Amino acid sequence: MDSSYLAEYAHSADSNAHFHGLPLTDEQKHLIAKVDEYGVTWAERAFKHDREASFPTENYEDLKAMGFLGLCVPKRLGGLGADYRTYTLVASRIAYYCGNTANTFNMHNANALWTADMIDAMDLTDAERESHEHNRAIHYGNMINGSIYSQPFSEGSGAAAGKHPFGTTATRSDSGWVLNGKKIFASLSGHANYYGVLCTEDVPNATLADTLFIAIPADAPGVSVVGDWDPLGMRGTVSRTLIFKDVHVPDTAQLMPRGIYIKAASQYPHMFMTLTPTYMGVAQAAFDFSVAYLRGDVAGVNVKRRMYPTKQHAIAEMYIKLQQAWALFHRVTSEFKRRPSREERSRAYACQYTVMEYCAEICAMAVRVCGGQAMLKTFPLERLYRDSRCGALMLPWTAEICIDRLGYGLLYKEGERDDD
Ligand SMILES: Cc1cc2nc3c(=O)[nH]c(=O)nc-3n(C[C@H](O)[C@H](O)[C@H](O)COP(=O)(O)OP(=O)(O)OC[C@H]3O[C@@H](n4cnc5c(N)ncnc54)[C@H](O)[C@@H]3O)c2cc1C
Repeated sequence: MDSSYLAEYAHSADSNAHFHGLPLTDEQKHLIAKVDEYGVTWAERAFKHDREASFPTENYEDLKAMGFLGLCVPKRLGGLGADYRTYTLVASRIAYYCGNTANTFNMHNANALWTADMIDAMDLTDAERESHEHNRAIHYGNMINGSIYSQPFSEGSGAAAGKHPFGTTATRSDSGWVLNGKKIFASLSGHANYYGVLCTEDVPNATLADTLFIAIPADAPGVSVVGDWDPLGMRGTVSRTLIFKDVHVPDTAQLMPRGIYIKAASQYPHMFMTLTPTYMGVAQAAFDFSVAYLRGDVAGVNVKRRMYPTKQHAIAEMYIKLQQAWALFHRVTSEFKRRPSREERSRAYACQYTVMEYCAEICAMAVRVCGGQAMLKTFPLERLYRDSRCGALMLPWTAEICIDRLGYGLLYKEGERDDD
């Protein structure tokens, strides 16, 4: 389909992303403008990747050419140096054009975001700091040179939700680690060059404190990709199953020093909401498609529907939800910090919940308001509708878990419990 209406409608995304209460920096504007240069092409490729459930390799070639594989790599180490908030703004714009590219690109960037300034601000020994600096320089170099990293942590158990240690194990060897285990829903499987794996050090009575974050080369002996991939939505993420069988990696594969992951996870809760921008962008795309469609601005549609009050009311309701989601998104992505307050942490859960659920609701409303012809596969709407449903399922912050934690946290003070 001709997706050129997006070039004009991106201004609508602008007025939401370019939030006047917190003006964008020149750098943020520059990065978003760069995405806009490629976005319409990505939107047009999305049809094929959705139909075939295939990975958007060409988009990653573009991201590489743009220097974006080093988006969250600090400038002093050769990257573009996007901080948390900048990343979320850029990611939401990528998702505006292609949700699948943004969803997978999130996995790549998390490997850099989680290991850069966040770790620098933590209490590390000199030796830990030195080895971390050494290891990440290698991985950041790989990213800048075009390697794609992914982030498989889900195992189909309670581990990804933080309930117990990961079942994938890393056993100490003379020269590094030997990994064994299985990861499900591993986005970019078969397409990433490295899998950034959360696993448990193989020690007696291991706990969450023994979690390790290790980059496994995709072509290492013992790594295999298995299973089908034919899901409802986000089909271009190619999230198949990964098997690790006696995979040997050197010490430099460690993306964080031993014992640091679990501390980072408790000190930086916002690190688990980096998929929020993907679904913010999808929601904006569904809204803009609906406006363009009802106005008769989408190529291939020659009937205007905007004059009907029911359409106007529905668009108004969608807009209200969209603005509520953007407002919370801007506030919460601006509150990223080490050890946020209890209120800021709660707001982050509320934001993740709101964006994921509103995205699905906005897409459902879009299908209803645009009508039957609009949900044909020649248009993006039915894909956005299917993709939107995936956001609430993303561990560790699924919509259900956000609600659980919010409800408990709002009614109990720190350390409080009922005696009976
Ligand atoms: C398109 C897509 C891409 C993905 N990409 C990745 C990826 O790159 N890396 C990755 O690691 N994972 C990825 N995931 C996996 C995702 O994060 C979840 O792990 C996966 O959807 C869990 O599926 P499940 O059926 O095993 O969930 P289950 O663990 O069975 O959970 C089902 C639901 O139960 C609820 N639940 C689970 N545990 C708890 C709890 N302790 N308390 C309260 N409620 C709970 C949650 O709401 C959850 O949604 C992806 C998923 C999708 C759909």
